[in-house]
This record gives sequence, C-alpha cells and structure tokens, in this order.
Amino acid sequence: MARPLYFVGPWDLNRDLACVPPDPQAGSVVLVESEAKGRALPWHKQKLVLVLSAMRHFAHELEEAGYHVSIVRAKTYAEGLQKAVKKQRASEIIALMPREYGLSRSFAQAVEQNTWGVPLTLHDDGGDGGHYLLTREAFAEWAQRTQKKSDPRWRMDTFYRWMRQRTGWLMDDKGKPEGGKYSFDAENRKPAKNESPPSAPSFEPDAITRKAMAQVKKWPSPTWGELEPFRWPVTRAEALQALDAFFAQRAEKFGDYQDAMLGGEPFMWHTLISSSLNLSLLHPQEVCERVLEAQANGTMPLAAAEGLLRQIMGWREFMRGIYWQRVPQMRITNTLKAHHPLPKFYWEPAETDMNCVRTSVQQVHDTDYGHHIQRLMVLGNFALIAGVDPHALSHWFWAGFVDAYEWVELPNVMGMATFADTSFTTKPYAAAAAYIDRMSDYCKSCPYNPKERVGSDACPFNALFWAFMHRHRTRLEKNIRLKMLLRTWDKWDKKQRDAILRRARQLVKNLPVDDTGWTYEDDAA
Ligand code: FAD
Ligand code: SF4
Repeated sequence: MARPLYFVGPWDLNRDLACVPPDPQAGSVVLVESEAKGRALPWHKQKLVLVLSAMRHFAHELEEAGYHVSIVRAKTYAEGLQKAVKKQRASEIIALMPREYGLSRSFAQAVEQNTWGVPLTLHDDGGDGGHYLLTREAFAEWAQRTQKKSDPRWRMDTFYRWMRQRTGWLMDDKGKPEGGKYSFDAENRKPAKNESPPSAPSFEPDAITRKAMAQVKKWPSPTWGELEPFRWPVTRAEALQALDAFFAQRAEKFGDYQDAMLGGEPFMWHTLISSSLNLSLLHPQEVCERVLEAQANGTMPLAAAEGLLRQIMGWREFMRGIYWQRVPQMRITNTLKAHHPLPKFYWEPAETDMNCVRTSVQQVHDTDYGHHIQRLMVLGNFALIAGVDPHALSHWFWAGFVDAYEWVELPNVMGMATFADTSFTTKPYAAAAAYIDRMSDYCKSCPYNPKERVGSDACPFNALFWAFMHRHRTRLEKNIRLKMLLRTWDKWDKKQRDAILRRARQLVKNLPVDDTGWTYEDDAA
C-alpha cells in the first residue's frame, strides 16, 4: 500500500516536528543532500561538516527507532524528492514549510508543474509540531495589526512585550513584567577587561563527522575557513550537553558581558546554541524554559535571564517573522545606496591591520563563529560606515557562519547591521572607535589610535563614522540622538571637518577589494 513520504529538511532534525511521523510505520522518511545548495556559496568548511553530519546522525537515530529512512543525493531538493517518491511509490509528500525563500519557491514551482505527481502537504514551521514559538500566521497577524500608516516600521520592543504577555514568561500575577520593566538591556553592557571566560564545550568528531570532514576536504566548489578543530554539536544529545554547560558555567555572567569583546576569547559567556537551534536539535521553547528555571532557582540573575529570553523569544522570532514579510524585496533593497565592493580582508584577515576587524574575521575563519557584538559593531559597522554593498556583506555572513541561514542572516545584515532595509530599524548601528575601545581590549594592541580622527595612525573607524554621518545627514537627523551627534560635527571648524572627510575618502579608496571571483546563488535549493 502506498504510504506518505515525510521530507525532513536539513534544518528539521528533531523527532517532535510534524515532518516526522509519530509512528515509524506511518510512512517513510527522506533527507536530501542538494548539490545545488552545496555549491551555492563558498560555505565555511565547518558549516558544511555540521549540516552533513547532523543530517546523517539524525537519519541514523530514526533508523534505530524503526523508521524507514533514506538520504538521497540529487541536483536539487525537488529532484531528490522526485526520486524518493518514485522509489517508495509514495502517496503524498508531507513536510514543514521550508525555512528559506529559495526552497519555498522551488517547492511552489514543483507543485505547479506537478513534478512529483503526488500532493504536497506543508505544516507550519512554527507553533505545535513546528520549530518556532509562533506560527507564520500569528506573526503576520501581529505585523498587520501593529503597522501604522503614519510609520510603517515594525518594532522589536512592541513585539517582545506582546510575546511576554502572550507567554506569561517573566510576568507577575498582575500581568506586569518581573522587576518592573520589560528590558534590562542597560544593565547588560559591561566591558570584561579583567575577566576571563570559562572554556566552552567542544565535541570530538566521531566516525560520521570524520567522514563528512573527509568529504568536505574534497568539496567540488570553493569553500572558506579552517576545517579543524571541529567542535560543534551534531546530535540532540550533544546540543543538550552544550546547553547544560552554558547553565553550569556561563549563565550567571551572560547578561553582564553580553556586549563585551576580548582578543583570544571567541566565545565569551555566550550560549553557543545558535547552530543547534537553527538545525532544530534544540527547540526555542525548551531553552526559554531552562532560562526561567535558572532565574527561579537563583542561578541566573533577572537581568541575564531577561536578556537571554529577549534574544530567543524576541529577536529570533521577530527576525524570522520579518524575513517572511520582506522577502524577496529584502534581498535587493539598499536604502543608503551603498555600493563599494566587499573589502578583501573579510575573506583574508591578514589584509588589514585594524586589530578589531582582523581578530574578528580570523576568529570566524578559524572557528566558524563570531558573537553578536563582533558581527554587529565590528564587522557590520565597518561595512556600514565604509559604504560597502549590503548584498556583498550579506553573502559573506551567509557563507561564513556556523548558524547562518537566509531567514536569520538576511534581516540581521540588511536591517540591523547595514540599514539597507528600514522596515524595522529606526537608526543605523553606526559607531566610531570609542565604542569598540570601551567594550573590548582590541585597541590596546592595534597600530591605530582610537582617539585620533586624522593622521596616518588615526583609527579608520573615526573618520569613516563622521563621513557616514555627514553623507547621510538628511536621513539621520530625523533621529534625536543622531541629531545631537551631528551638532557636535557642526561645531568643529570647517578645516577639521574637511580633513576628516579627506581621510575617509582616502581610506575607502585604499580598501583592498574582494578578488575571489566567487559567485552566489540566492535561490539555489
Ligand atoms: P547568544 O548571544 O548566546 O544568544 C542566544 C540566542 O539568541 C542565539 O543563539 C540566537 O538564537 C538568538 N539571537 C540573539 N540575537 C539574535 C538576532 N539578532 N537574530 C536572531 N537570533 C538572535 N544569528 C543566527 O542564528 N544566524 C545568523 O546567520 C546570524 N547572522 C547575524 C548577522 C549579523 C550581522 C548580526 C548582527 C547578527 C546575526 N545573528 C545571526 C544573530 C546573533 O548574532 C547570533 O544568533 C548569535 O551571535 C549566535 O551566538 P550564540 O548562540 O552564542 O548567541
Ligand atoms: Fe579597531 Fe580602531 Fe580600535 Fe584599532 S583602534 S582596534 S581599528 S577600533
């Protein structure tokens, strides 16, 4: 008798999702390794290993539990499904809504052209049986309800308050936020200059991972970064161990040092769970529940617990919702008309002597990871103030990070980091050297002086920052805080301002340009 075929996407690696039947006999399960996706970008080697190994481990786990599972290698996901339907003589395909626009489009085309010859049932990728806290519909309703005609921008803080009220998490009996306010962000910004973070968990590659590593060594298209040491959790059991390690060792200070950066300390007090969350090895609900438990039993201060909840139930859900509101336009929008090619040092860190940039890129190259403030205030900020093309930057982030998938990378790069998409941001996250100097120890081992704006040893961030403010003043002065900053600029004499603008022009002109010749396929699926 023909049975349904359950398609487990590369990021759907959890038995609680609706793309895995509760009863192993209810249908067969297929995972697809898409050649087109594998060569779509110059992926970081560790990311390739992670995805291949995690998929294969999950297939193995299902097999052990009595499922009929196959991994099909094909040109595309759609072709893989076509092969599997034929082989299994399946009656229908059951899957979760694809999490990336490219795959979603490819599925829609396959249905339209009747490529599979059987119906496709898609379950929501959020809510019950899904991976996110919210269904797409619930987010879309919120987005429609809160969008004002006078100011159509969506606000994360409005969304986050709504999520807190909806879940009741960190809310008291009277429906008020614990501690009297929704956000303790201001308390979570300490530098960590005399601190040393505990070591982060690392998982020894087993035979399946080693096989994936050998395969990646011979990858047929360009890849980036170091392959070893490979440390990332590839199974749910390992992801849970990593989560336990966070709560045992780093949760207490997570809030304090959330925005801090230290040379030689890639992981700080961060959770390091994004790669596991994004593959569904962990569910956001269980992570939030652990945070609430840690706050209730006193092992995590309220400010830290609130800070982490905001990242997961706030930012993460918000970005996923915004992505689906804004694609495909989000891929092409470029509000600030920034067109400079990506500087070469994003691929080759030795090409710059700016210590903050060089250290951050080198770290991503070596570990496949950079924490939020490195991404936003060093790597994103530099591209923003230097006028780098946001799409070029977006491809770099998508290819280079262990947790990168378009649904989360794109809104972060286009909205938060580069202000190319202004559908949910009120001002760009632009900063001069003072911010990096305050929040890190990078400047003390840098050949540039963070206090100077002009001269050959002046920190490039300073001249670029002020030139950026000057270039976009009409737009930026609509924001009160930025307007005040521009008043400082106006008070400087013309000679000084001209010297800063000259230095900025010179810096941009001398930026070494990406000459890899690599190409990028946004829609490859
Ligand atoms: P922690 O700092 O410990 O935070 C806990 C969790 O909160 C993260 O695991 C993540 O799931 C969630 N989170 C926090 N901030 C965000 C955010 N802005 N958007 C979505 N989730 C968030 N995150 C990705 O998962 N994939 C990406 O491709 C990605 N690209 C980014 C690009 C830029 C330019 C910026 C500024 C941020 C990006 N982020 C991305 C968000 C964030 O930087 C990472 O989620 C975080 O650094 C992952 O490390 P962690 O697990 O140790 O996070
Ligand atoms: Fe970065 Fe400037 Fe500090 Fe050097 S001086 S580390 S370039 S902010």
